[in-house]
Amino acid sequence: MGSIGIVGGGVVGLCAGIELLEAGHQVAIVDDDAEGGAASWGNAGHIAVEQVEPLASMSMVRSLPQRLFMRGGPLGFPPSAIGEWVPFGLRLLAAARPGQFRNGCKALAPLLAGSMPAWTSLVDRIGASELVRQDGHFVLWHGERAAREGRASWLASETGTARVHDATQAESEMLSALCKSPVAGAVRFSGSGQIADLGELRQALRKAFLERGGALVAQRGELRLTGSRVEIGGVDAEQVLVCAGVRSRELMEYTGHKVPMIAERGYHVRADAQDWPADLPPVVFEERAMIVTRYRSEVQAASFVELGKADAPANPRKWERLERHVAELGLPIAGPFRRWMGCRPTLPDYLPAIGRSTKASNLYYAFGHQHLGLTLAPITARLVASMVAGEQPALPLAPFDIQRFA
Ligand SMILES: Cc1cc2nc3c(=O)[nH]c(=O)nc-3n(C[C@H](O)[C@H](O)[C@H](O)COP(=O)(O)OP(=O)(O)OC[C@H]3O[C@@H](n4cnc5c(N)ncnc54)[C@H](O)[C@@H]3O)c2cc1C
Repeated sequence: MGSIGIVGGGVVGLCAGIELLEAGHQVAIVDDDAEGGAASWGNAGHIAVEQVEPLASMSMVRSLPQRLFMRGGPLGFPPSAIGEWVPFGLRLLAAARPGQFRNGCKALAPLLAGSMPAWTSLVDRIGASELVRQDGHFVLWHGERAAREGRASWLASETGTARVHDATQAESEMLSALCKSPVAGAVRFSGSGQIADLGELRQALRKAFLERGGALVAQRGELRLTGSRVEIGGVDAEQVLVCAGVRSRELMEYTGHKVPMIAERGYHVRADAQDWPADLPPVVFEERAMIVTRYRSEVQAASFVELGKADAPANPRKWERLERHVAELGLPIAGPFRRWMGCRPTLPDYLPAIGRSTKASNLYYAFGHQHLGLTLAPITARLVASMVAGEQPALPLAPFDIQRFA
C-alpha cells in the first residue's frame, strides 16, 4: 500500500482519507480551512437521497424566470460574474437536453441509492452513529394552489430510495403551530435524513482520521507537475487526490484538465435553538426555497443559489431576506443571527467528477458534488478507495470522468 496526499479536508476529503487509511494506505490531508468555514460545515445538513434527478433539466430551465432573486426567488446572477455564468449556463442548457438528462439520472440514481448505507456504515465504524438521523424531512406550503401543485409534483416525482406521503393530521398541526398561519399542505419523506450537527461531524471525522494514523497538514496545497507525475509541495506522497471543493478547478486546470465548474453560492443564518423542536427533521418551506435544520444547539435557515465567483464578497441582501422569511413566517427563531456564505462546487451537468487523471499518472480527483456533497461524501470515498486499489468500483465511473468536458 502506498502513500497518498489529499488536497482538501472538507467532508469529501476527510471521508476519502478515512476510507484510504482503512484500506492500508498512508494518508496526509493538506487543508487550509482552519476555522471550518467551508461548504461542508455550513450546509443544510440534509442527506438528500431523494434528489435523483440532476438539476440540469428542462423543467429547471423553464422555471428559471420565476426563480430569480429579484422576483422573490433563490436564484442570483451577479453582473460582476457574467464571465462565469454565461459559459456555465450554455453548458447547462446542453446538459439539460432530454437524452443528456436521462443519462444523468442513470448515473446519479445508484450513487444516491448507496449514500445512506455508506453514511451509516461510516459513522458506525468511527463510533459516531448518533450523528446520522434517518428520520426523513418535511416539505410544506402555505398557499392553497402552491400546496396542490407542489404535493402533486412530489408525489409524481422519482425519489430514489426515499418515499413521500402526505403529512398526518398531527404532523400538519405541529408544523402549523410553528408558523403564525396554518400550513395549507405538507408532505413527509422517509428514507432521507440529516447530520445531527455539522460541527460535531467535522470533529468526529478529523478525530477518526488522526486515530487511524492520518496526518493533517494545515497549509495551502500547491501542485507541481514534473513529467507525467504530480506532487503536492512539501508533502511526500506517491499518489495525489484532489478533493478541494470549488477550488479543485484551479488545481485540476494546472494539470491540463478542462473544468467548467462554478461557485454556486448559498447562504445561511443560524441562531440558538431555543424553541425549535430538538427532534424535528429538516423542514423545507418550498414557496420561499428555504430549508430550516435543527442542529444540536442551533437552528439554521438556508437558501439561495448565486452563480458567481468563490472569493467575491457576500451579498448582505441574501441574509436580510432569510431573516425576513423567518420573521414573516413567525418561526420561533430569534436573533442575534450568525451569518454565513459558502460555495457549492458545481459542474454544468450537476454530476460530480470522480476519477483518475489522464494528464498525470498518479493523480485522482473527487469534487464537483454541487448540492449533494454532504450526501455523497462517504459513497464517493468508497469509489475512490476502489479506484486507488485498482479494483472494479461498485458503480460505473465513466459518467463522472472529468474528460467529459475536454
Ligand atoms: C447553503 C448550502 C446548503 C447545502 N446543503 C446541502 C445539503 O443539505 N446536503 C448536501 O448533501 N449538500 C449540501 N450542500 C452542498 C455541500 O455542502 C457541498 O457539496 C460539499 O460541502 C462539498 O464538499 P467538498 O469537501 O467537496 O468541498 P468543501 O466543503 O468546499 O471543502 C474543500 C476544502 O478544501 C480546502 N482547500 C481548497 N483548496 C485548497 C488548497 N489548494 N490547499 C489546501 N486546502 C484547500 C478548503 O479550504 C476546504 O476546507 C449545500 C451547500 C450550501 C452552500
